[in-house]
Amino acid sequence: TPTVGVLALQGDVVDHRRALEAVGARTRTVRRPEELVGLDGIVLPGGESSTIDRLSRRFGVREPLVAALRAGLPAYGSCAGMIMLADEIVDGLPDQQTFGGLDVTVRRNAFGRQVDSFETDLDLIGVDGTLHAVFIRAPWVERVGADVEVLASAAGHPVAVRQGALLATSFHPEATADTRVHALFAAGL
Ligand code: GLN
Repeated sequence: TPTVGVLALQGDVVDHRRALEAVGARTRTVRRPEELVGLDGIVLPGGESSTIDRLSRRFGVREPLVAALRAGLPAYGSCAGMIMLADEIVDGLPDQQTFGGLDVTVRRNAFGRQVDSFETDLDLIGVDGTLHAVFIRAPWVERVGADVEVLASAAGHPVAVRQGALLATSFHPEATADTRVHALFAAGL
């Protein structure tokens, strides 16, 4: 049974724990460096990336988490979590930093005000059949590096990507009862 941390500085932590436990993982919230020890993977939830960035520095968990990701800790980021995994962001707040690891450029709040939040059905490589995807002030991916696989797109932009042990989606599978994206992540642990 893999033990998966859920970064619990801000955002929809409870929904990710429920989805991970439904696919057979043990979960633990992570706010402090020592809570990273012994994890098989970590989930970076949706929420507000600039807040997660700021709190990660205040709690002293930023540097050890960045080191763990560089050392190969598998991670799945949804929405703000995708932003946190991106090496580069567009439209971040001044001085906003990410943890990085994914060789992508992500545009924050990309889908704009009119369609701030919407739902659509997607095909996602690695998941059989259609996936109902919930987008909430979501980012999209504007540039993908050579080692990045695009798993799904919406409105002509990648919204799910994978690079090695890192998985990221613009949307929120944890906001639905469908646990297949969490199963995809857990299967790699
Ligand atoms: N717009 C948010 C951000 O910039 C992300 C929204 C979300 O996670 N639902 O972090």
